[in-house]
Amino acid sequence: MRGNVISYFEMCQKEGTSLQRGMNFRLRGRHSVILMSLHANAPYQDRIEDDGSILIYEGHDEPRNNGLRNPKSVDQPEHLPSGNLTENGKFHKAALDFKAGLKNPDIVRVYEKIKKGIWSDNGYFHLIDSWREPDGSRNVFKFKLAAVEGIINDEAAEDIQADETKRTRIIPTKIKLAVWKRDRGKCVECGAVDELHFDHIVPFSKGGTSLSTENVQLLCARHNLAKSAKIL
Ligand SMILES: [Zn+2]
Repeated sequence: MRGNVISYFEMCQKEGTSLQRGMNFRLRGRHSVILMSLHANAPYQDRIEDDGSILIYEGHDEPRNNGLRNPKSVDQPEHLPSGNLTENGKFHKAALDFKAGLKNPDIVRVYEKIKKGIWSDNGYFHLIDSWREPDGSRNVFKFKLAAVEGIINDEAAEDIQADETKRTRIIPTKIKLAVWKRDRGKCVECGAVDELHFDHIVPFSKGGTSLSTENVQLLCARHNLAKSAKIL
């Protein structure tokens, strides 16, 4: 569920594989998975736009092996030495194929590192655009992802039409970090420290904002469920 706080181990369990890299195109033939981090010292310039409905994710550098001293000095690669596409290349092609009307958008699940060992499930996105742009010294890939709701059967993610889903919002990192600190990493109702969730006090669907710490709190799974039941 979007906003759930999970450990690295739980994240790998959910995806059924050990997540070793940031970009994972069509993991085991299903949705793709990307890992993001918006910390000041994060290696890539990811950003959130339109109040959390759009994520602009930066592609990844040439690996540091084969004698490359500074991967940030060369263009992000589209192809491997074998000629096959890199993860950059695969995501880029999928986005352009969608833009050209050749296919439905790829479904991408996004996990965000909050702090060491603590991740947040940012939910599902549609991969809707991609381009290359200069970052000052070389060209990098950019991927535009739109947050979506309503993906239930992600086994068939490729068959889902864009218009079957609703736009939604993710909570910006700085809000998550401030809430985590304020609520001391515990459910505000019972003090539980496991199965936590970033909860909108007034739900987004009822006009609540993701942009203020005043409207976000930490709840455990039990209290989150209890609250959802009350709202419905
Ligand atoms: Zn609780």
